Amino acid sequence: MKDLPARRLLLVHAHPDDESINNGATMARYAAEGAHVALVTCTLGEEGEVIPPALAHLAEDREGGLGAHRVGELAAAMGELGVSDHRFLGGAGTYRDSGMMGTEQNHRPGAFWAAGLDEAAGHLVAVIRSLRPQVLVTYDPDGGYGHPDHIQAHRVAMRAADLAADPAYEDGAEPHTVAKIYWNRVPRSVAEEGFARLRETAPDAFPGIAAIDDVPGVVDDAEITTEIDGSSYAGAKTAAMRAHATQIAVDGPFFALSNDLGQPVFTTEYYQLVRGVPGVDHGGRERDLFAGLTDAPLAPGAQT
Ligand SMILES: [Zn+2]
Repeated sequence: MKDLPARRLLLVHAHPDDESINNGATMARYAAEGAHVALVTCTLGEEGEVIPPALAHLAEDREGGLGAHRVGELAAAMGELGVSDHRFLGGAGTYRDSGMMGTEQNHRPGAFWAAGLDEAAGHLVAVIRSLRPQVLVTYDPDGGYGHPDHIQAHRVAMRAADLAADPAYEDGAEPHTVAKIYWNRVPRSVAEEGFARLRETAPDAFPGIAAIDDVPGVVDDAEITTEIDGSSYAGAKTAAMRAHATQIAVDGPFFALSNDLGQPVFTTEYYQLVRGVPGVDHGGRERDLFAGLTDAPLAPGAQT
């Protein structure tokens, strides 16, 4: 694709809403700076619990229809972030939300958790070889917090990156090596500060307050290689989160999922580089996912 911008970022997520919670500020910033930002979401999130009582009928154990509704929520969220390239793995409805670990939904036909790894990865290889992103963002091997679809999204993303680079994997397209792969992370100190701020300034915003271990991807600060300051895009991130109204309740700089437990919204987003060469001298944190890539020049006027 010759007409794509010089900088190309691909994000792989499990359900609609994960992208806005984890990477909303990053996505808005890179889109605004002229990068091509592409999102692949692996399921429609059919098994999510519904927060607003007026929409409770959409739940799978009621009338159903939540998956189709969440397609619309995702599109609205991407509108808020300025991201026009968002797709579902293999096309909408190819893979179904697998529910929480240990439930019967894990093994139902079409469940993403039960999908063949190379078959699922093959859909993503086609995206990678077409868009030729320099940077791929996904979850750690535990999927951040152990949800089967998040674990599977990690496996599919990593496998697809390997296959896309392998000339022996033939699908009619040219091989492509993703230069840098990142996992979503939150440094423990930042999570602690965020919860302290929530307790001080809005202790009653939600029925309860989450624990640090409820936040996906929390690790010791030393694991963090990269931080992306998206504070200029805080409004876009919270607007995108609000667009996922069945799943997220937003109150100022805080939010809750269907468990009603408040959490901070992070507008600086953190990553661990797990493949590729860091673009900074040892010791420092990268401030740009494309740092050090000679084929990914900054867009004119972009901030570093
Ligand atoms: Zn999810």
